[in-house]
This record gives sequence, structure tokens and C-alpha cells, in this order.
Amino acid sequence: MTWVADIPRRFVREPTAAEYRELRRLRGTQLPGLGVRARIVLLSAERVPIPEIMRRRRVSRPTVVGWLRRFEQSGVPGLLTRARSGRPSRVTPDLLRHLAIVTSARPRDLGVPRPAWSLAQLREYLVRTGAAPAISLESLRVALRRAGLSLKPARTGLAQKGATTMIPGAFEYHAPTSIGEAMKLLATLGEDAKVLSGGQSLIPLMKLRLASPRHVVDINGIGGLAYIREADGFLRIGGLTREVDLEESELIRTRYPLLFDTCRVIADPLVRNLATIGGNLAHGDPANDHPATMLALGAEIVAKGVKAERRIPIGSFFTGPFETALKPDELLVEIRVPLPAARSGGAYLKLERKVGDFATAAVAVQLTLGANGTCEQVGIGLTNVGLTPIKASRAEAALKGKRPDEATIKQAAQLAADASQPSADLRGPVEYKKDLIRVLTARALRKALERAGGGR
Ligand SMILES: Cc1cc2nc3c(=O)[nH]c(=O)nc-3n(C[C@H](O)[C@H](O)[C@H](O)COP(=O)(O)OP(=O)(O)OC[C@H]3O[C@@H](n4cnc5c(N)ncnc54)[C@H](O)[C@@H]3O)c2cc1C
Repeated sequence: MTWVADIPRRFVREPTAAEYRELRRLRGTQLPGLGVRARIVLLSAERVPIPEIMRRRRVSRPTVVGWLRRFEQSGVPGLLTRARSGRPSRVTPDLLRHLAIVTSARPRDLGVPRPAWSLAQLREYLVRTGAAPAISLESLRVALRRAGLSLKPARTGLAQKGATTMIPGAFEYHAPTSIGEAMKLLATLGEDAKVLSGGQSLIPLMKLRLASPRHVVDINGIGGLAYIREADGFLRIGGLTREVDLEESELIRTRYPLLFDTCRVIADPLVRNLATIGGNLAHGDPANDHPATMLALGAEIVAKGVKAERRIPIGSFFTGPFETALKPDELLVEIRVPLPAARSGGAYLKLERKVGDFATAAVAVQLTLGANGTCEQVGIGLTNVGLTPIKASRAEAALKGKRPDEATIKQAAQLAADASQPSADLRGPVEYKKDLIRVLTARALRKALERAGGGR
């Protein structure tokens, strides 16, 4: 995973000196939009007032506030409301961390004989334990607000079922039973709400408080959102379809080998029992496996909002790290994949450190051969080697209309490697990952060709 994709995680509280250095480095990036965002966040982290950021970056207030709010919602409290006078704040990152831990416990578990925290008791406890030597009730109230914490015990549902301690921040749980009901909730709650599908990405983020939605809209009780069928020229997959259902589908196994390869290497069987294809795509994680596969297949996403339904070509769906074209009030309801023509084949090849891990790198290939043996149609998608999943368009162009002999395959594989933009991390250095893309692309192309010719 690139560090840019990690910004929300790394900036959970106050940026460290090393993070400042990285943000500064990011300022110089050529990627559209990214430099501007980094500059805005960096300036704010340096306590530059918002009007001054607007002046220096020549951007509007909504742009500045919008970006700060997004980072704040990703777990960077205080960027928006932090004092900018240069005076040290009483509300320190340590205090925020402490508050998160203390308020997630019941008072009596910490030796305070009360059923619930009041502001005064919380202050008394913090002062007694030395977490906050002197803090006014007002400062404490501000600190709680910044950290998205509430002293009210969570009321209903998942949030506290059987639990004595809340690990995520407090949230309201909603369980609509129809799309209409879900749409209304999302339209009313806006950016304060998160959709819950399989929960395999959202719940870990909430447990770590990297996401603290005030409302969780669980769509698992809505009927008719899980299906796999061919109709009207498309393979149609409902947004709530689980990975296990794709893996066990005869239709997918026999007609869509690329998709079959993909769902079998996602996480492990426990995760696949719950995780959904809609959640995998909506999460916008460049390390997830479905995005590259859908790029190769030329899929489209059907998004439903309260007023309208729209079809989003997959090429314009992933707009940034963990960002998609979905609006806060839209549900991903269906994925449409064009039906494969005769003499089509596909393959997904992934290298992972161990079974169940995210990809070090992976390549998705889908192609169709013409009657004369040339490549009529070809799609190539790359996983976890950029800020978003990557469509290797130049590699595709090198194959289109050509006979896929060894020389052409090698050329396309090199072009795919050139298109990748990996970062060095625990999974390996940049050069290694680029070369991995080259090797995996060549192998995936050969396998797809074999399958297009009738092989398995
Ligand atoms: C241990 C582990 C290993 C994993 N390994 C892999 C891996 O190798 N490859 C891989 O691809 N993934 C992997 N994952 C991620 C897994 O596939 C996730 O389940 C998936 O990313 C999200 O799907 P979900 O249904 O669980 O979504 P959730 O966690 O419920 O939601 C994820 C995000 O998508 C949004 N969302 C969900 N559904 C919709 C919808 N219908 N409309 C609009 N927004 C929606 C949510 O609001 C949230 O922001 C792993 C997860 C775990 C826990």
C-alpha cells in the first residue's frame, strides 16, 4: 500500500515530524489534485488560518473546508477546529487518545461507581489519573466533540449487543428493509452515514477509529440485492452478492474465469462468507482485487440515489485512494459485465505473501480473439501498484489487432510494468513490484489466450 493511500491512517491524531516531511514531499507530486490536497492539509496542520490557505492556494473556502473535513472524518480530528493562534492547545493528541479509551469503557470497570459517565465525573477521573492535569469542562466538551465521542451509552443494535465495552466510536444503527427506506436514510443522513454490507473493511476501520460514522446503515436486511444472472447482454451481479456465492456459482466458474480466479484469492473463506462484491468496489481500496478485474472486463456500476439511478463506467469509478464516484446518498446496487463473445478468455494472477493477504501485485487480463487469431478486444487491470487500480491502456493498445505471439506479449507486459506506479513497503521495493507486474502480465496473457482457445 502506498503511503498516500495511508494518509488517513497515519494522521490519526497529530502529524509527526516524519509525516510532515512526507506531506511536504507529496506537495511536489504531479498527480492531478493530489498536490493541492496535500498542500491544503499541510498548511492547516501548520496552523495557517483558512483565509490565508485560500489566498495562498487560490482555492475557495468550500474546497479548503471540504478537504479538511474529509481528513477529519478519516480520523484526523482537529484540523478544522484547532486553534490557529499558535498558542499551545490544552486538547492534546494524548488527551484525545486517552478520552477514546476511557469513554469506551464503563465507569465501573475503571473503579468509578456510576452507571454512565457525566462530564464532571469524566473530568474528575482524568485529573485524578493525571491524564489531564487541569482542564475546564468547556475544553473537555470541545475535546469530546473533536474526537467524535459521546458520553451517552449507545442505544440500540449491533453497537452494544452483548458488549461491555464499545471499541468503535458511538453510532446509531439503522436496519432498513427496503431500498426505498435505505435511500431515504442516506439522503437525510448524508456524509454522517456509512453503508454496512459485509463489514469486512468498514468494521476493522471503525474498531481502530479510523472511521467514526455517526450512523451505520446496514443493508443486509434488504431483499433482492444478491443475485448472479445473465440478462439483456450483461452478466448482472447484485451489490450485496457475497464472494462465496461468486466462488460457488456454476455460471461464474464456466463462463467468467477471470472473475472466478479473482474471488477465490480474496482474503480467506471466513472473510469471503461475509464480504460482498459491492463493498469491495465501493471501498475504493487499490489493494482490493475486484477493481482491476472489473477494469479488465469493462464493467459498469449501477448506483441508485433517492432521485435517480445512474450507470458509471468502471473507468471513471475510482477517483482517488479510497475514493469512488459514488455520492454519499447512493447505493451500489449492481455490477454489469458485458457478456463474453465467442473465443474469449481471462485470467487473474496475484502474488501474496501468504494466503489471505492483500496482493503484493496482481494482474487481471480479459481478451477476445478474432477469426484470424488476432486480439479483437483486450482489457488489462493492475492491483495495488498505484493510488487507484490501474488500467494498462498502452499495453492493451499494443495487443489490439495483433497476433499475440511471444514478442507482442513481452512488449505488452513491459508496457504494463511501465504503467504501474508502486511504492516501496513491507511487500517489496518499487523495482521488484514493477518487474512482478511484467512477469504476471505475460503469464496472465498466456493463460487468457489458452482459455480463449478452449483450455481451462
Ligand atoms: C483479513 C482480511 C483480508 C482481506 N483480504 C482481501 C484481499 O486479499 N483482497 C480483497 O479484495 N479484499 C480483501 N479484504 C477486504 C474484503 O474483501 C472486504 O470485505 C471488502 O473490501 C469490502 O466488502 P464488504 O462487503 O465487507 O464492505 P463493508 O466493509 O461493509 O463496506 C466497505 C465500504 O464500502 C461501502 N459500501 C459497502 N457496500 C456498499 C454499497 N452497496 N453501496 C455503497 N457503499 C457501500 C461502506 O460504506 C464502506 O465504506 C480483506 C478483508 C479482511 C478482513
